[in-house]
Amino acid sequence: MTDIHTISVIGAGTMGSGIALTAAMKGIQVRQNDIAEAQLDRARAYHAKTLARSVAKERLTQDQADEVAARIQYHTGLSECASAQWVIEAATENLKLKKEIFSALDEACGDEVILATNTSSISITDIGATVGPAASRVIGMHFFNPVPVMKLVEVIEGIATSEETTRRTFELAERMGKTPIKANDRAGFVSNRVLMPMINEAFHAWMEGVAEPEAIDDIMKLGCAFPMGPLRLADYIGLDVCHHIMMVLYEELGDQKYFPCPKLRQLVLAGRLGDKSGMGVFDHSGT
Ligand code: NAD
Repeated sequence: MTDIHTISVIGAGTMGSGIALTAAMKGIQVRQNDIAEAQLDRARAYHAKTLARSVAKERLTQDQADEVAARIQYHTGLSECASAQWVIEAATENLKLKKEIFSALDEACGDEVILATNTSSISITDIGATVGPAASRVIGMHFFNPVPVMKLVEVIEGIATSEETTRRTFELAERMGKTPIKANDRAGFVSNRVLMPMINEAFHAWMEGVAEPEAIDDIMKLGCAFPMGPLRLADYIGLDVCHHIMMVLYEELGDQKYFPCPKLRQLVLAGRLGDKSGMGVFDHSGT
């Protein structure tokens, strides 16, 4: 096994902060990057709070928690990525932005560095096409929220991804305590191809007055054994992320059934993005 000692995580939002903490918990040095200082502050606070909770529950000693915290460095520049052996990009779900980031990473990083993306829906082949020969080291490494808890990493190869890149990705995912499973490079891969239309349908059911949001979620929890209702899950994922994934499915697969529900779009336009903005389908201001 190749010994990965340092990774760089681009984006310190919901997913990037979770990926950084999960890697640090497994003894890996982490460079946590974001363009926004405020997001780095939020990530630092989330890491401190999560580690403090682990100490309180006696899952970690204070010394172990301090060691995990000391493994994460926070920075806004991409130059720090040069010293990492691996990059996991978890910036905002936007193709143009991801292409810019991958071009910059190609410049900043050495020829051995794996360039993984945590995209939920964007084509790995498309992202890889921006970096020329380095496309052999570009791969989808799709974690799930909350990263420290969820077991799956969906692994997606682009057309140019090498077998060696895939093999090493499986190794890193397992080292991080996850179960990697391969899916093909089609819009939404497997997870969001199946999950997002179901969430979108829950918005339609709400919009058409089939039931109120609480009832929709309770019916799916009690009747289908879902741990969380689809509308609560949408808030947790981020309504902007859900909307974006539906647009990718719609544009890539060309079927009207994937068009984002107007109710979902309306909340996104209003800035009601879910947990991260304090308000989505439900009110999270007190949590
Ligand atoms: P988020 O909005 O919480 O965080 C995105 C972060 O990217 C922000 O902190 C933003 O400041 C940062 N960013 C924007 N431009 C940047 C740049 N040029 N350089 C560095 N950082 C930059 O989003 P998220 O929910 O964490 O999603 C991140 C990625 O993970 C997306 O591709 C998304 O599709 C994917 N994803 C999300 C979930 C989920 O449940 N939210 C699950 C799996 C995958």
